[in-house]
Amino acid sequence: MSRPRPPRFDAAAEEVARVAAAAPDWESLAAAARPCVACPELAATREHVVVGDIPVGGRPRLALVGEAPGAQEDATGRPFVGRSGALLDELLAEAGLDRAQAAVLNVVKCRPPGNRTPKAPEVARCSGWLRRQLALLDPPVVVALGLSSAKWFLGPRTVLGEVRGRPHDVEGRAVWATYHPSAAIRFGPNGAPRAGLLADLTAVAGSLT
Ligand code: SF4
Repeated sequence: MSRPRPPRFDAAAEEVARVAAAAPDWESLAAAARPCVACPELAATREHVVVGDIPVGGRPRLALVGEAPGAQEDATGRPFVGRSGALLDELLAEAGLDRAQAAVLNVVKCRPPGNRTPKAPEVARCSGWLRRQLALLDPPVVVALGLSSAKWFLGPRTVLGEVRGRPHDVEGRAVWATYHPSAAIRFGPNGAPRAGLLADLTAVAGSLT
């Protein structure tokens, strides 16, 4: 069984991890995360800390974990509500998965300016929130959407093409790594990422039945 290996901690990361670990439930964690300023650049430019969506009542059947919020997510405070979210919803439905039964999270909870890739210290700082979210929600299955999320769960040397298509045991959860919907949009409806994402979500759905 492997463990997630986020980048090295610093003092701000340790403080986030300490506060997050003390949250007894989802609401407490969300209330503690919303004013977080551990990453000065992100805290100065974001509109919302996008904590995540969870099913109404009960343990999620799975957790979908993306990289970071985009512009619409930042504006609304909710994950996967922009173009990527619309495609994700479409492919989830095609695969036979119900978003309402999933937790929808991100590795980094604040939008990086210009949608740049989150920096290693930002990932390290935000890891405390995600770790606690996973502990509180306890999803049996995780779908890591995109390389940043795949690396968070499977290690910094992860190559998406090598880990896709099968579950990986990470601290007792089945972690599937696949394309981010934004890649599926970038490469178009006939591109490999869209087909791969749908195939992986379909395999996940099959593993849940
Ligand atoms: S990205 Fe995460 S750790 Fe950084 S300020 Fe936002 S909530 Fe805090």
